[in-house]
Amino acid sequence: MQYSEIMIRYGELSTKGKNRMRFITKLRTNIQDVLSIYPAVKVMADRDRAHVYLHGTDYKPVAESLKQIFGIQNFSPSYKIEKSVPALIAAVQAIMLDIYQEGMTFKVSSKRSDHDFELDSRELNQTLGNAVFEAIPTVQVKMKAPDIDLRVEIRKEAAYISYETIRGAGGLPVGTSGKGMLMLSGGIDSPVAGYLALKRGVDIEAVHFASPPYTSPGALKKAQDLTRKLTKFGGNIQFIEVPFTEIQEEIKAKAPEAYLMTLTRRFMMRITDRIRKERGGLVIINGESLGQVASQTLESMQAINAVTNTPVIRPVVTMDKLEIIDIAEKIDTFEISIQPFEDCCTIFAPDRPKTNPKIKNVEQYESRLDVEGLVKRAVSGIMVTEITPQAEQDEVDEWISDLL
Ligand code: ATP
Ligand code: MG
Repeated sequence: MQYSEIMIRYGELSTKGKNRMRFITKLRTNIQDVLSIYPAVKVMADRDRAHVYLHGTDYKPVAESLKQIFGIQNFSPSYKIEKSVPALIAAVQAIMLDIYQEGMTFKVSSKRSDHDFELDSRELNQTLGNAVFEAIPTVQVKMKAPDIDLRVEIRKEAAYISYETIRGAGGLPVGTSGKGMLMLSGGIDSPVAGYLALKRGVDIEAVHFASPPYTSPGALKKAQDLTRKLTKFGGNIQFIEVPFTEIQEEIKAKAPEAYLMTLTRRFMMRITDRIRKERGGLVIINGESLGQVASQTLESMQAINAVTNTPVIRPVVTMDKLEIIDIAEKIDTFEISIQPFEDCCTIFAPDRPKTNPKIKNVEQYESRLDVEGLVKRAVSGIMVTEITPQAEQDEVDEWISDLL
């Protein structure tokens, strides 16, 4: 027997009172975006549940995708059955014969939203339980925590049977907490920061600074590939490439070596903030982690942060590198992050950057530059592309081998 749909139970959003419908609508579009890699699949959502109709698609890869989407508590692959007692009996027997192993216990939990159905839920439990005994005489019933809980639902359009409950990612649906600009380099930390922001429902746009020809197309592609990895948690992400060459050359030419890093970071922060404002973002998110490198001392953070009042969220600020790497591996960004492409900051990085930059000095060096003109030109030169989820390579290989 093949699963016909997957029934989804919502997570934390159930507690959100009158915002509930907004949350559900958001979650539905996120699920649709993520599952857009399976063309036959359709998504519906009502107040209590969402339903993914498989239309012949294998449920396993779809379930893998669903496991990652924030805002889902858990879900159950289900069989759609004709709404008649004989059909239900045949179905529970077939399912049990398929999954039963020596010594397993079971129960039937029926629910009826269609009250015109000939049996009520108690009678259904009885009838279908007996049908199971007929098929497997040695099976035992257990009311509390049985090995197999056959859940039967009689709805208007059909009956549904499920027995597996798969845990979802929890968190909040992406987009229900407003929008933030993620400063995304090609490193390990910023994708993890992005993931953690997504988890709490922040819709992110990825801002990436590129300095061609000093940085290669490979470095840009790396940032885009990382962004694509982040789409599996809540759907499409806008990727914003900022032309940064002119600014880096100007700083290099006019400021002392030790302050290159601080000045560079202040420009990144200003530009990200300007883009945020234009695009309706509420916060900036970055991958700074305390003490990791010179730019990440508290003094540096203060000097860099001084260009804006916008809240800057640093989800990994107090994590150790190994903790960050654990998450990077879990979300499958680590392998991409360690590809050896030079970032705009590594190329212009001084040997001994200042770890305790003085704001007074910073401002004096910046007065040698046309800060406003440089920021304006960078902002007007941005390139925005929408990054959509993509099937994993092994799935693509599988489809191709199916076709051959
Ligand atoms: P990451 O692993 O995220 O690159 P990092 O440990 O290498 O972080 P830095 O290079 O000091 O740290 O960068 C600190 C933060 O500044 C990054 O996490 C990122 O948010 C932002 N950042 C650095 N370079 C870029 C860039 N080219 N484009 C966008 N944001 C950047
Ligand atoms: Mg970096």
